Amino acid sequence: MTAKAERRIDGQFVNDSFPLGHRLRDHAAFGAPKQTRKVPLVIVGGGCAGLSAAWRLRKKGFQDFVLLEMESQAGGNARWGENPVSRYPWAAHYLPVPNKESALVRELCEDLGMLENGKWNERFLVFAEQERLYMNHRWQDGLEPEVGATARDRDQYKRFGERMREMRASGQFTKPIDIGAKPTPLDKMSFEDWMKQERFDSELLRWYANYSTRDDYGALARDTSAWAGIHEFASREPEEKGPLTWPEGNGWIVRRLLERVGRFVLTGQMVHRIRPSKRHVSLLAADTEYRATCGNRFSRGPANEFCRPTNSSRDANLSGSPNLRKPRTR
Ligand SMILES: Cc1cc2nc3c(=O)[nH]c(=O)nc-3n(C[C@H](O)[C@H](O)[C@H](O)COP(=O)(O)OP(=O)(O)OC[C@H]3O[C@@H](n4cnc5c(N)ncnc54)[C@H](O)[C@@H]3O)c2cc1C
Repeated sequence: MTAKAERRIDGQFVNDSFPLGHRLRDHAAFGAPKQTRKVPLVIVGGGCAGLSAAWRLRKKGFQDFVLLEMESQAGGNARWGENPVSRYPWAAHYLPVPNKESALVRELCEDLGMLENGKWNERFLVFAEQERLYMNHRWQDGLEPEVGATARDRDQYKRFGERMREMRASGQFTKPIDIGAKPTPLDKMSFEDWMKQERFDSELLRWYANYSTRDDYGALARDTSAWAGIHEFASREPEEKGPLTWPEGNGWIVRRLLERVGRFVLTGQMVHRIRPSKRHVSLLAADTEYRATCGNRFSRGPANEFCRPTNSSRDANLSGSPNLRKPRTR
């Protein structure tokens, strides 16, 4: 890591299995499996998505599954660390308060003790009304840079706010996304180009747009679609409370999930091949071949409640990752 100023910042990437990831990318050869394990259902990846899928299965009474995680610690982007002072997040550090439409997220929040009788637990709600920004050697309220802003900047903030209100009213920028999203030319242009097209050229507003896309997508406005960039602003209600947060950020959610489903999680298991056949889906990870039988036409019982039966040798989604498409096994 290099510092922008003269002082060098010592640091390193952590929890980052990039050598393993590069082996996948480069279609390296992996050892042949030494054992086979049949299990109705396999979840790949122990980030919030995989863990909450596991939570839901268990809650519905289905326990015959495994979750395979490549790292030694589950949590994905919501992993956390701890030092003598405090726990701390490595990446995802807050949960926007889920709206009424996000029924499943709210169900999870209730189960984890964040939401009780329709009320958010005050301990987890960020108390301050606004985030604060340190810019030009001063703290300030809100995220739109006020210190140093000219009348022209303020005029553009106002116009930007109005455009976002219009976008919100269009009903396309929803959470969950699938309620409102439909194909649009905004998918095909960058947020930066959309800003230019709308004559938003204030440096401070552009800084704010980049801050927001970096925060949510880890990418600059020029590398984020216009739709996604607008979604960041237009999907939130102006009077939205919160967000919800903890010292270890979303690691708190992961810890609570692991208390419930940790026994299904196998770490150090990078899936390097997924191959569907008529009878099962075969997944290779470490020295094991997992045969997921859920959803095949021979399986019976509770497993099928959770799987859409699919005769899936043609199911492109199962080999959706380009890195999983051309396996080579010794
Ligand atoms: C820097 C940063 C900050 C963020 N901050 C927030 C925030 O504050 N609030 C918020 O709501 N969202 C935030 N997000 C977004 C949020 O982190 C993601 O939306 C969320 O983590 C996605 O969860 P996921 O389970 O889909 O993926 P991930 O968290 O990426 O988890 C995927 C998991 O799958 C594992 N995996 C990958 N490939 C394989 C394989 N082949 N075999 C086995 N395991 C595999 C990975 O190791 C990982 O554990 C942030 C994102 C970033 C990058």
